[in-house]
Amino acid sequence: MSCSELLAGLEREALGGEMHALIRELYPLCRSITGNGVRETLRRLRDHIPLEVEEVPSGTEVYDWRVPQEWNIRDAWVKNGTGERVIDFRESNLHVVSYSVPIRRKMSLAELRGNLHTLPEHPDRIPYRTSYYSESWGFCLAHSKLEQLAEGEYEVCIDSTLEDGHLTYGECLLRGATRDEVLVSCHVCHPSLCNDNLSGISVAVFLAKLLSSLSLRNSYRFLFLPATIGSITWLKRNEELVTRIRHGLVLTCVGDAGAITYKKSRVGWALVDRAFVHVLARSGRPHEIREFTPFGYDERQYCSPGFDLPVGCMMRTPFEEFPEYHSSADNPDFVRPASLVDSLATCLEVFEILERNRVCRNLKPRCEPRLGKRGLYDSLGGDRVRDRQLALLWVLNQSDGRHDLLEIAHRSGLGFPAIVDAADALLATDLLAEEGWP
Ligand code: ZN
Repeated sequence: MSCSELLAGLEREALGGEMHALIRELYPLCRSITGNGVRETLRRLRDHIPLEVEEVPSGTEVYDWRVPQEWNIRDAWVKNGTGERVIDFRESNLHVVSYSVPIRRKMSLAELRGNLHTLPEHPDRIPYRTSYYSESWGFCLAHSKLEQLAEGEYEVCIDSTLEDGHLTYGECLLRGATRDEVLVSCHVCHPSLCNDNLSGISVAVFLAKLLSSLSLRNSYRFLFLPATIGSITWLKRNEELVTRIRHGLVLTCVGDAGAITYKKSRVGWALVDRAFVHVLARSGRPHEIREFTPFGYDERQYCSPGFDLPVGCMMRTPFEEFPEYHSSADNPDFVRPASLVDSLATCLEVFEILERNRVCRNLKPRCEPRLGKRGLYDSLGGDRVRDRQLALLWVLNQSDGRHDLLEIAHRSGLGFPAIVDAADALLATDLLAEEGWP
């Protein structure tokens, strides 16, 4: 079965339900860039796909960085004078600044305030804050709740550990007929946030699950890693196999109701870039194509000049451009089953191009060859037949060894499925030969 046949048979409603259920299951886990929340997340992904889990010791040098100490947290709270938990980690793991060092002591509200973070413009939301690379502690809470805190003494407890341990990431390799690889990368380091991190995880998991039933030309490597330090660590440990990566994609913020945004790779005209431009243009729906910027998610590392991998980034509404971003409002209700499935289906359409795009050569390039005597000419007529014949003529005309099938699909306006089917029909005759895989 091919990606396009898989797409045609997709039971979208049921699949959307499963994808959303995975997000709800992972939502309560307290993930960070290291620690047991990431391990537990990866353990649950193994119920769906085969995943190799790697553990890299704290202190390992990775280019200009160092794998940090491992952070774990059991509980955290702020109690008022009567012993009531006015801020409670058990209610939401967003309440604690990620990587907070342990603390237990009493202090005045004035002193406590210096370590509290709120969003005054969205007074009912808890913000998401981190403190990975400076030793500090803090709590996040709804601004409305902060305003209710009375003067007096509070007891503060963060029952966390920050000590030598490991950085954990997961890798799932689906072997295809060739060693050419498609890299799909998503981050797993955010706690209870859905569009930013869990949506990418869900789309990647279900892509891997669905692709595993196909016979593929490319191999597909799915990475589930903490943002920035995770991809830097992976690149450092895999310098040799990076040359196999022919196409790549970072998945993030792929579950909200917005239209799809594709950010091009640093290369800008890599096949994955051209494939997204084509698929989104053919969709007839609103979408946005953005040029590369050295900012964003892990494409920053994959597209650093020493690697310059053809890795783009697929999003719906980009980070920082939806008000729910990095707050408790990025919850399971904010991501939609239909958007998750649409993101997955768009990836499959692109993968279909990555699987079947080729450069071909017309073996009888002087004047038009006769299609009828090769069983390729259908005299019955009709729009569909005419389009099929147009596709045959386009492939023959453009296959001079310089234009790949995707370019022909774009230039002819006929779309990739029609052009690739015409090419396959011609390849079965003496008229066309395969010349290479761009
Ligand atoms: Zn984020």
